[in-house]
Amino acid sequence: MFNRLYIHIPFCQSKCAYCAFYSEVDASEELIDAFFCRLEEEFRVNSANCAELDSIFIGGGTPNSLSAANLAKLFNLISANFAISNNAEISIECNPESINSEKAVIIANFANRVSIGVQSFNCEFRKILSRKGTVQSIFDGIEMIKKAGVVNVGCDLIYAIPSQSVDDWCKELSQAVKLGVKHISAYSLTYEEGTRLYRQYSEQQNSEQLAELEAKMWQKSPKILKKYGLKRYEVSNYALPGFECRHNLEIWYGDTYLGCGPAAASFDGSKRYTNPNDIKSWLNSTPPELDIISPEQRAAEILIMGLRTSQGWNSAKFAERTGYSIDHWQKKLDQFANDDLLLYSKTDLKLTEQGLLLWDTIAESIL
Ligand code: SF4
Repeated sequence: MFNRLYIHIPFCQSKCAYCAFYSEVDASEELIDAFFCRLEEEFRVNSANCAELDSIFIGGGTPNSLSAANLAKLFNLISANFAISNNAEISIECNPESINSEKAVIIANFANRVSIGVQSFNCEFRKILSRKGTVQSIFDGIEMIKKAGVVNVGCDLIYAIPSQSVDDWCKELSQAVKLGVKHISAYSLTYEEGTRLYRQYSEQQNSEQLAELEAKMWQKSPKILKKYGLKRYEVSNYALPGFECRHNLEIWYGDTYLGCGPAAASFDGSKRYTNPNDIKSWLNSTPPELDIISPEQRAAEILIMGLRTSQGWNSAKFAERTGYSIDHWQKKLDQFANDDLLLYSKTDLKLTEQGLLLWDTIAESIL
Protein backbone atom coordinates (compact mmCIF):
# COMPACT_ATOMS: atom_id res chain seq x y z
CA MET A 1 0.00 0.00 0.00
CA PHE A 2 1.28 3.45 -0.91
CA ASN A 3 1.36 6.24 1.64
CA ARG A 4 3.22 8.76 -0.52
CA LEU A 5 1.56 10.52 -3.44
CA TYR A 6 3.20 12.60 -6.15
CA ILE A 7 1.07 14.61 -8.58
CA HIS A 8 2.51 16.13 -11.74
CA ILE A 9 0.80 19.30 -12.95
CA PRO A 10 2.08 19.64 -16.51
CA PHE A 11 1.33 23.30 -17.19
CA CYS A 12 3.64 26.34 -17.32
CA GLN A 13 3.19 29.94 -18.37
CA SER A 14 6.30 29.83 -20.55
CA LYS A 15 9.24 27.52 -21.17
CA CYS A 16 12.46 28.32 -19.31
CA ALA A 17 15.63 28.12 -21.41
CA TYR A 18 17.17 25.23 -19.43
CA CYS A 19 14.08 23.13 -18.75
CA ALA A 20 13.78 19.55 -19.94
CA PHE A 21 10.78 18.68 -17.72
CA TYR A 22 7.58 17.82 -19.47
CA SER A 23 5.11 20.72 -19.47
CA GLU A 24 2.54 22.37 -21.73
CA VAL A 25 2.67 26.13 -22.24
CA ASP A 26 -0.52 28.19 -22.61
CA ALA A 27 -2.86 25.24 -22.12
CA SER A 28 -6.45 25.85 -23.19
CA GLU A 29 -9.33 25.56 -20.70
CA GLU A 30 -10.51 22.44 -22.55
CA LEU A 31 -7.13 20.78 -22.06
CA ILE A 32 -7.10 21.66 -18.36
CA ASP A 33 -10.65 20.30 -17.97
CA ALA A 34 -9.64 17.08 -19.72
CA PHE A 35 -6.59 16.88 -17.43
CA PHE A 36 -8.82 17.05 -14.35
CA CYS A 37 -11.20 14.35 -15.68
CA ARG A 38 -8.34 11.96 -16.33
CA LEU A 39 -6.61 12.83 -13.04
CA GLU A 40 -9.80 12.08 -11.13
CA GLU A 41 -10.02 8.72 -12.87
CA GLU A 42 -6.37 7.98 -12.04
CA PHE A 43 -7.02 8.92 -8.39
CA ARG A 44 -10.11 6.69 -8.26
CA VAL A 45 -8.37 3.66 -9.77
CA ASN A 46 -5.28 3.96 -7.58
CA SER A 47 -6.68 5.10 -4.26
CA ALA A 48 -7.62 1.48 -3.42
CA ASN A 49 -3.88 0.77 -3.30
CA CYS A 50 -3.22 3.58 -0.84
CA ALA A 51 -3.14 3.62 2.94
CA GLU A 52 -3.56 6.89 4.82
CA LEU A 53 -1.19 9.32 3.07
CA ASP A 54 1.79 10.48 5.10
CA SER A 55 3.05 12.85 2.40
CA ILE A 56 1.83 14.45 -0.79
CA PHE A 57 4.06 16.31 -3.23
CA ILE A 58 2.47 18.43 -5.96
CA GLY A 59 5.08 19.33 -8.58
CA GLY A 60 5.36 20.07 -12.25
CA GLY A 61 5.35 22.05 -14.39
CA THR A 62 3.98 24.91 -12.37
CA PRO A 63 1.10 23.79 -10.11
CA ASN A 64 0.15 27.37 -9.25
CA SER A 65 -0.16 28.33 -12.91
CA LEU A 66 -3.64 26.81 -12.41
CA SER A 67 -6.36 29.34 -11.64
CA ALA A 68 -7.52 29.77 -8.03
CA ALA A 69 -10.70 27.79 -8.88
CA ASN A 70 -8.67 24.95 -10.41
CA LEU A 71 -6.28 24.82 -7.47
CA ALA A 72 -9.27 24.47 -5.15
CA LYS A 73 -10.64 21.77 -7.46
CA LEU A 74 -7.33 19.88 -7.33
CA PHE A 75 -7.21 19.96 -3.54
CA ASN A 76 -10.86 18.85 -3.29
CA LEU A 77 -10.20 15.95 -5.65
CA ILE A 78 -7.24 14.80 -3.56
CA SER A 79 -9.25 15.05 -0.34
CA ALA A 80 -12.23 13.23 -1.86
CA ASN A 81 -10.17 10.30 -3.10
CA PHE A 82 -7.48 9.72 -0.47
CA ALA A 83 -7.36 9.43 3.29
CA ILE A 84 -4.75 11.90 4.52
CA SER A 85 -3.00 11.56 7.86
CA ASN A 86 -3.52 14.45 10.30
CA ASN A 87 0.16 15.29 10.34
CA ALA A 88 0.83 14.60 6.66
CA GLU A 89 3.45 16.73 4.94
CA ILE A 90 1.76 18.36 1.94
CA SER A 91 4.19 20.12 -0.41
CA ILE A 92 3.46 22.21 -3.46
CA GLU A 93 5.86 23.86 -5.90
CA CYS A 94 4.96 27.43 -6.82
CA ASN A 95 6.42 30.00 -9.15
CA PRO A 96 6.41 33.42 -7.47
CA GLU A 97 4.94 35.40 -10.36
CA SER A 98 1.85 33.15 -10.44
CA ILE A 99 1.03 33.63 -6.74
CA ASN A 100 -1.72 36.06 -5.77
CA SER A 101 -3.38 36.53 -2.41
CA GLU A 102 -6.43 34.45 -3.39
CA LYS A 103 -4.29 31.49 -4.49
CA ALA A 104 -2.05 31.88 -1.43
CA VAL A 105 -5.04 31.42 0.90
CA ILE A 106 -6.31 28.38 -1.04
CA ILE A 107 -2.82 26.85 -0.97
CA ALA A 108 -2.38 27.53 2.75
CA ASN A 109 -5.70 25.83 3.50
CA PHE A 110 -4.44 22.58 2.00
CA ALA A 111 -0.63 22.50 1.88
CA ASN A 112 1.78 22.99 4.76
CA ARG A 113 4.99 23.18 2.75
CA VAL A 114 5.57 25.50 -0.21
CA SER A 115 8.64 25.40 -2.38
CA ILE A 116 9.12 28.59 -4.38
CA GLY A 117 10.91 28.36 -7.75
CA VAL A 118 13.24 31.32 -7.35
CA GLN A 119 16.32 30.02 -9.25
CA SER A 120 18.02 33.45 -9.05
CA PHE A 121 17.51 36.88 -7.49
CA ASN A 122 19.74 38.49 -10.12
CA CYS A 123 18.03 40.07 -13.15
CA GLU A 124 20.86 39.19 -15.53
CA PHE A 125 20.92 35.54 -14.53
CA ARG A 126 17.13 35.38 -14.62
CA LYS A 127 17.34 36.62 -18.20
CA ILE A 128 19.83 33.88 -19.15
CA LEU A 129 17.51 31.26 -17.63
CA SER A 130 14.52 33.08 -19.18
CA ARG A 131 12.66 32.98 -15.89
CA LYS A 132 9.38 34.80 -15.97
CA GLY A 133 8.59 37.39 -13.32
CA THR A 134 10.62 40.08 -11.60
CA VAL A 135 12.78 39.89 -8.50
CA GLN A 136 10.07 41.93 -6.74
CA SER A 137 7.55 39.20 -7.62
CA ILE A 138 9.70 36.74 -5.61
CA PHE A 139 9.57 38.96 -2.52
CA ASP A 140 5.83 39.52 -2.96
CA GLY A 141 5.09 35.83 -3.62
CA ILE A 142 6.96 34.63 -0.52
CA GLU A 143 5.28 37.31 1.56
CA MET A 144 1.79 36.32 0.36
CA ILE A 145 2.38 32.63 1.10
CA LYS A 146 3.70 33.42 4.58
CA LYS A 147 0.88 35.87 5.27
CA ALA A 148 -1.64 33.19 4.32
CA GLY A 149 -0.20 31.06 7.13
CA VAL A 150 2.40 28.71 5.62
CA VAL A 151 5.41 28.52 7.93
CA ASN A 152 7.42 25.96 5.99
CA VAL A 153 8.45 28.00 2.95
CA GLY A 154 11.51 27.00 0.96
CA CYS A 155 13.04 27.92 -2.37
CA ASP A 156 14.90 26.38 -5.30
CA LEU A 157 18.06 28.02 -6.58
CA ILE A 158 20.33 27.29 -9.54
CA TYR A 159 24.10 27.79 -9.50
CA ALA A 160 26.87 27.85 -12.12
CA ILE A 161 24.80 30.02 -14.44
CA PRO A 162 26.98 31.40 -17.30
CA SER A 163 29.08 34.37 -16.03
CA GLN A 164 28.05 33.76 -12.38
CA SER A 165 30.96 33.99 -9.93
CA VAL A 166 31.32 32.25 -6.56
CA ASP A 167 30.62 35.62 -4.88
CA ASP A 168 27.46 36.05 -6.94
CA TRP A 169 26.33 32.61 -5.76
CA CYS A 170 27.02 33.45 -2.11
CA LYS A 171 24.84 36.56 -2.51
CA GLU A 172 21.99 34.41 -3.87
CA LEU A 173 22.15 32.14 -0.82
CA SER A 174 22.30 35.04 1.62
CA GLN A 175 19.38 36.74 -0.10
CA ALA A 176 17.28 33.56 0.20
CA VAL A 177 17.91 33.07 3.91
CA LYS A 178 17.26 36.74 4.63
CA LEU A 179 13.74 36.14 3.31
CA GLY A 180 13.30 33.59 6.09
CA VAL A 181 13.11 30.41 3.99
CA LYS A 182 13.44 27.20 5.98
CA HIS A 183 14.66 25.01 3.13
CA ILE A 184 16.84 25.50 0.04
CA SER A 185 17.28 23.14 -2.88
CA ALA A 186 20.33 24.16 -4.90
CA TYR A 187 21.10 22.48 -8.20
CA SER A 188 23.86 23.27 -10.67
CA LEU A 189 22.64 24.35 -14.07
CA THR A 190 22.55 21.43 -16.48
CA TYR A 191 22.67 21.74 -20.23
CA GLU A 192 19.99 19.30 -21.32
CA GLU A 193 19.99 18.43 -24.99
CA GLY A 194 17.05 19.94 -26.81
CA THR A 195 16.82 23.01 -24.56
CA ARG A 196 17.47 26.59 -25.67
CA LEU A 197 20.28 26.89 -23.17
CA TYR A 198 22.01 23.85 -24.61
CA ARG A 199 21.95 25.36 -28.09
CA GLN A 200 23.18 28.74 -26.83
CA TYR A 201 25.85 27.87 -24.30
CA SER A 202 26.93 24.23 -24.24
CA GLU A 203 29.71 24.72 -26.80
CA GLN A 204 31.11 27.75 -24.97
CA GLN A 205 31.56 25.77 -21.77
CA ASN A 206 34.90 24.27 -20.87
CA SER A 207 33.77 21.19 -18.99
CA GLU A 208 36.81 21.04 -16.71
CA GLN A 209 36.57 24.71 -15.69
CA LEU A 210 32.84 24.38 -15.25
CA ALA A 211 33.19 21.31 -13.01
CA GLU A 212 35.74 23.19 -10.91
CA LEU A 213 33.45 26.19 -10.54
CA GLU A 214 30.48 23.98 -9.65
CA ALA A 215 32.55 22.22 -7.00
CA LYS A 216 33.65 25.56 -5.48
CA MET A 217 30.06 26.81 -5.31
CA TRP A 218 28.82 23.52 -3.87
CA GLN A 219 31.55 23.54 -1.22
CA LYS A 220 30.85 27.14 -0.30
CA SER A 221 27.09 26.65 0.11
CA PRO A 222 26.97 24.88 3.50
CA LYS A 223 29.46 27.38 4.91
CA ILE A 224 27.20 30.31 4.03
CA LEU A 225 24.00 28.56 5.10
CA LYS A 226 25.42 27.29 8.39
CA LYS A 227 25.57 30.88 9.64
CA TYR A 228 21.78 30.98 9.34
CA GLY A 229 21.22 27.54 10.87
CA LEU A 230 20.53 25.60 7.64
CA LYS A 231 22.39 22.32 7.24
CA ARG A 232 23.08 20.23 4.17
CA TYR A 233 21.02 17.05 4.64
CA GLU A 234 21.30 15.75 1.08
CA VAL A 235 23.69 16.45 -1.81
CA SER A 236 21.57 19.37 -3.07
CA ASN A 237 19.27 20.17 -0.13
CA TYR A 238 19.65 22.32 2.98
CA ALA A 239 17.20 22.94 5.81
CA LEU A 240 16.75 24.29 9.29
CA PRO A 241 16.50 21.34 11.72
CA GLY A 242 13.02 19.81 11.45
CA PHE A 243 12.33 21.32 8.01
CA GLU A 244 13.88 18.56 5.87
CA CYS A 245 11.47 17.32 3.18
CA ARG A 246 9.98 14.13 4.64
CA HIS A 247 8.51 13.00 1.31
CA ASN A 248 11.87 13.08 -0.49
CA LEU A 249 13.85 11.71 2.46
CA GLU A 250 11.63 8.63 2.70
CA ILE A 251 11.87 8.07 -1.04
CA TRP A 252 15.68 8.38 -0.96
CA TYR A 253 15.56 5.74 1.78
CA GLY A 254 13.68 3.39 -0.54
CA ASP A 255 10.02 3.99 0.27
CA THR A 256 7.35 3.27 -2.35
CA TYR A 257 5.22 6.03 -3.91
CA LEU A 258 2.30 6.54 -6.23
CA GLY A 259 2.66 9.08 -9.06
CA CYS A 260 -0.34 10.56 -10.88
CA GLY A 261 -0.44 12.83 -13.92
CA PRO A 262 1.50 12.78 -17.19
CA ALA A 263 5.20 11.92 -16.80
CA ALA A 264 4.69 10.90 -13.15
CA ALA A 265 6.46 7.76 -11.95
CA SER A 266 5.35 5.23 -9.32
CA PHE A 267 7.44 2.64 -7.51
CA ASP A 268 5.77 -0.30 -5.76
CA GLY A 269 8.88 -1.91 -4.32
CA SER A 270 9.77 -4.04 -7.33
CA LYS A 271 8.39 -2.27 -10.40
CA ARG A 272 8.64 1.30 -11.60
CA TYR A 273 5.76 2.63 -13.71
CA THR A 274 6.22 5.84 -15.69
CA ASN A 275 3.22 7.58 -17.21
CA PRO A 276 3.63 8.85 -20.79
CA ASN A 277 5.34 12.26 -20.84
CA ASP A 278 2.84 13.57 -23.33
CA ILE A 279 -0.56 14.77 -22.19
CA LYS A 280 -2.42 13.43 -25.23
CA SER A 281 -1.16 9.88 -24.70
CA TRP A 282 -1.88 10.14 -20.99
CA LEU A 283 -5.42 11.44 -21.66
CA ASN A 284 -5.93 8.46 -23.98
CA SER A 285 -4.99 6.13 -21.10
CA THR A 286 -1.80 4.87 -22.77
CA PRO A 287 -0.41 2.46 -20.16
CA PRO A 288 2.66 3.49 -18.18
CA GLU A 289 6.08 2.21 -19.17
CA LEU A 290 7.02 -0.66 -16.92
CA ASP A 291 10.48 -1.22 -15.53
CA ILE A 292 10.91 -4.44 -13.56
CA ILE A 293 13.68 -4.15 -11.04
CA SER A 294 15.41 -7.22 -9.59
CA PRO A 295 15.74 -7.31 -5.77
CA GLU A 296 19.52 -6.87 -6.06
CA GLN A 297 19.22 -3.91 -8.42
CA ARG A 298 16.57 -2.38 -6.18
CA ALA A 299 18.81 -2.78 -3.11
CA ALA A 300 21.74 -1.19 -5.00
CA GLU A 301 19.52 1.75 -6.05
CA ILE A 302 18.29 2.20 -2.49
CA LEU A 303 21.85 1.99 -1.17
CA ILE A 304 23.05 4.72 -3.48
CA MET A 305 20.00 6.97 -3.02
CA GLY A 306 20.34 6.76 0.78
CA LEU A 307 23.98 7.75 0.38
CA ARG A 308 22.83 11.07 -1.08
CA THR A 309 21.86 12.05 2.46
CA SER A 310 24.37 13.49 4.92
CA GLN A 311 23.27 10.95 7.49
CA GLY A 312 23.78 7.99 5.15
CA TRP A 313 22.74 4.48 6.11
CA ASN A 314 22.40 2.57 9.31
CA SER A 315 23.27 -1.04 8.30
CA ALA A 316 20.35 -2.58 10.21
CA LYS A 317 17.86 -0.14 8.64
CA PHE A 318 19.26 -0.92 5.19
CA ALA A 319 18.93 -4.68 5.75
CA GLU A 320 15.37 -4.23 7.03
CA ARG A 321 14.36 -2.13 3.99
CA THR A 322 16.04 -4.20 1.29
CA GLY A 323 16.68 -7.72 2.62
CA TYR A 324 20.35 -7.25 1.69
CA SER A 325 23.37 -6.76 3.90
CA ILE A 326 25.54 -3.72 3.17
CA ASP A 327 28.47 -6.20 3.07
CA HIS A 328 27.15 -7.39 -0.30
CA TRP A 329 29.01 -4.36 -1.76
CA GLN A 330 31.94 -4.59 0.66
CA LYS A 331 34.72 -4.64 -1.94
CA LYS A 332 33.54 -1.43 -3.56
CA LEU A 333 32.75 0.25 -0.25
CA ASP A 334 36.26 -0.60 1.02
CA GLN A 335 37.70 1.03 -2.05
CA PHE A 336 35.65 4.21 -1.50
CA ALA A 337 36.66 4.23 2.18
CA ASN A 338 40.34 3.91 1.18
CA ASP A 339 39.90 6.89 -1.14
CA ASP A 340 38.40 8.93 1.76
CA LEU A 341 35.04 9.11 0.01
CA LEU A 342 33.16 7.01 2.55
CA LEU A 343 33.02 6.57 6.32
CA TYR A 344 32.23 2.93 6.92
CA SER A 345 31.78 1.15 10.25
CA LYS A 346 29.98 -2.07 11.29
CA THR A 347 26.78 -0.14 11.97
CA ASP A 348 26.82 2.96 9.74
CA LEU A 349 28.05 4.30 6.44
CA LYS A 350 27.96 7.74 4.95
CA LEU A 351 29.81 9.64 2.27
CA THR A 352 32.41 12.23 3.22
CA GLU A 353 32.07 15.73 1.78
CA GLN A 354 34.31 14.69 -1.13
CA GLY A 355 32.20 11.53 -1.54
CA LEU A 356 28.98 13.56 -1.74
CA LEU A 357 30.61 15.78 -4.36
CA LEU A 358 31.52 12.68 -6.38
CA TRP A 359 28.16 10.97 -5.76
CA ASP A 360 27.48 10.49 -9.50
CA THR A 361 30.70 8.53 -10.00
CA ILE A 362 30.10 6.43 -6.88
CA ALA A 363 26.53 5.70 -7.98
CA GLU A 364 27.71 4.60 -11.41
CA SER A 365 30.25 2.27 -9.88
CA ILE A 366 27.71 0.64 -7.50
CA LEU A 367 24.97 0.30 -10.10
S1 SF4 B 1 8.61 26.87 -14.70
FE1 SF4 B 1 9.73 25.02 -14.08
S2 SF4 B 1 8.74 23.33 -15.18
FE2 SF4 B 1 8.04 25.25 -16.14
S3 SF4 B 1 9.43 25.56 -17.86
FE3 SF4 B 1 10.32 26.70 -16.13
S4 SF4 B 1 11.71 25.23 -15.11
FE4 SF4 B 1 10.39 24.06 -16.50
